[in-house]
Amino acid sequence: MAIKRIEARELTFWERTYVPEVLKGVWITARHFFRNLWIFTAQRFGLKKTSRGAETYQYPEERRPLAPRLRTLHRLTKREDGAPRCVACMMCETVCPARCIFITAGEHPNPHIEKYPTRFDIDLGLCVFCGYCVEACPEDAIRMDTGILEFSAYSREEMVMDMKKLLALSEAPPPNPHRTPPPVEEAH
Ligand code: SF4
Ligand code: SF4
Repeated sequence: MAIKRIEARELTFWERTYVPEVLKGVWITARHFFRNLWIFTAQRFGLKKTSRGAETYQYPEERRPLAPRLRTLHRLTKREDGAPRCVACMMCETVCPARCIFITAGEHPNPHIEKYPTRFDIDLGLCVFCGYCVEACPEDAIRMDTGILEFSAYSREEMVMDMKKLLALSEAPPPNPHRTPPPVEEAH
């Protein structure tokens, strides 16, 4: 394969001083500021009703609506009897590009269900939120629709979601949720 060498262009005197670029940045910021100031002032007096100025969400009191297909914190779904739908097939663990799913399979007492997970951990410190685990699951046992986006921790260990935590989120969330993790309840 041919390699094309590109020589870096020499900066001009004015580019080396940065002054024109700084002035350009100040001009852009000032232009937006005065435009928004004019629109919102005019709207106060009943003018410019169709113009739209910049809007800022007053986070955390005000949250931006979530897109319906946004991938948020995982949850494990349950069967009617409350048991995890997961059959420990390892498809999600295998497909995960970040290698952040850790499953241990156990023999299920029900002869119609071959296996179930005795351990199901997701390390959120490694997860890249690609959604492959959801796509790969043949049982619809894992979803990423909780609407939970805020999950920081003070240690790597706390970033690991175990089966208990994932099952505590098993209920389908309300439309366009913005939630924080609930306290973990006993898993069934
Ligand atoms: S979202 Fe992607 S990186 Fe995260 S656990 Fe699923 S497959 Fe792995
Ligand atoms: S969550 Fe789905 S893909 Fe992952 S082990 Fe369980 S059944 Fe298989």
